[in-house]
Amino acid sequence: MVCQKCNSERVAEIGGKCSDRFHAYIGDRETSGYVDDDLGIGGGNYIEFNLCLDCGQVQGEFPLPPTFLETGKLPDEDDDEVDYDDDEGFCGL
Ligand SMILES: [Zn+2]
Repeated sequence: MVCQKCNSERVAEIGGKCSDRFHAYIGDRETSGYVDDDLGIGGGNYIEFNLCLDCGQVQGEFPLPPTFLETGKLPDEDDDEVDYDDDEGFCGL
């Protein structure tokens, strides 16, 4: 893998299982528990991201849309057209 910003090959693949001991802050806003998957650093049990050791760029697509940490809302909570009953099928996969 080469860095998306500086093309360095010194890109470290970072990972860690923190389960529900994750926390993140922006100012006085906090999220804690399992890893928020909208922060671009993994999700669920795992923190996972790729970090360029030359320029510090976290690999991924940025800017990210507003996150749960910032808004306190999950991405589709504002969408009244979402039928949550349809999501039950995904649990069986
Ligand atoms: Zn870089």
